[in-house]
Amino acid sequence: MKKILITGGAGFIGSHVVRLFVNKYPEYDIYNLDALTYAGNLENLSDIEKAPNYNFVKGDIADETFVNSLFEEHQFDGVIHLAAESHVDRSITDPLSFVKTNVFGTVHLLNAARKQWVNNQEGKRFYHISTDEVYGSLGAEGLFTESTAYDPNSPYSASKASSDHFVRAYGETYQLPYVLTNCSNNYGPNHFPEKLIPLFINNIINNKSLPVYGDGNYTRDWLFVVDHARAIDLVFHQGKNHETYNIGGFNEWKNIDLVRLLCTIMDRKLGRPEGTSTGLITYVKDRPGHDLRYAIDASKINKELGWEPSVTFEQGLEQTVNWYLENEQWLQSVTSGDYASYYEKQYK
Ligand code: NAD
Repeated sequence: MKKILITGGAGFIGSHVVRLFVNKYPEYDIYNLDALTYAGNLENLSDIEKAPNYNFVKGDIADETFVNSLFEEHQFDGVIHLAAESHVDRSITDPLSFVKTNVFGTVHLLNAARKQWVNNQEGKRFYHISTDEVYGSLGAEGLFTESTAYDPNSPYSASKASSDHFVRAYGETYQLPYVLTNCSNNYGPNHFPEKLIPLFINNIINNKSLPVYGDGNYTRDWLFVVDHARAIDLVFHQGKNHETYNIGGFNEWKNIDLVRLLCTIMDRKLGRPEGTSTGLITYVKDRPGHDLRYAIDASKINKELGWEPSVTFEQGLEQTVNWYLENEQWLQSVTSGDYASYYEKQYK
């Protein structure tokens, strides 16, 4: 029996990782630690919450006393760390909360794991999940590799870059067994509708405008969240200690082209005349410090661990749109704020 702590498991990516681990590894005891901020929604995990190997702990990783007492109560074999403040726009208005969770929270977890494993590191692993945004912005050419220098431009990416450096430093200074991955933009079911794809799906359903930053030429690489969870499973079990792996979809899209594709799919699904949804596009003032282009070279994880995405972007986007249309109740509960009472109903 292995005891695994997954932080941020009520969030978008974390919930897919928790589900995969709970279902695939019945011999593991999975602890989902989440503060249930606005981004944490336990309804994401209602299908597995009664599984015998699943446990939920409500708590804040930025609270050192709480983190230490959790590690005193449990001997964890592994930590998969996803908890974070994750929205760039929020980091521009409130950078400090990103420092508290993403930097202090990560360091509290690193300290607790280091203390717990100091005399026996056999089979232990600290897995830190990060973003390609730490590398900054690319011009028209080139790709981010694992050796690209960090050059973060937003308070979000600066806080993630800082946490990545702490993880590496704990590996060098204290020989903490760690792995780290930097992944491109994720999309898929259970994505909080403040992020581009779910926001626009929701706005199209409700005939609201689709605000596109600047001239819409910002370019991102997109990965289906289920494929990210598969990569996390692989790296956790087969990645080499003290290594970084980039994860990406080999799938670059200009924002405006992505929005047009989404509009076409939505018009077809909703039975509206083609072009209805593109009429909702409005260009809005640019985000400060906006990175022009991110693109990931994911050849290391592909060559060394044999990972590649299982779906094309068109397939993933279609599945995502289907999920949102079939789960309008989830969308309504998240946008109205009702989801926040789920924890009280189920766990109190
Ligand atoms: P999310 O915002 O959907 O979920 C974050 C989760 O962390 C939420 O459940 C929230 O309640 C929890 N949380 C926040 N602060 C906490 C705290 N102080 N203590 C405990 N829990 C706390 O984020 P996401 O999109 O699922 O991202 C998960 C991780 O993956 C983050 O570390 C993010 O940087 C990284 N990442 C995200 C993407 C992406 O496209 N979404 C891409 C690459 C990497």
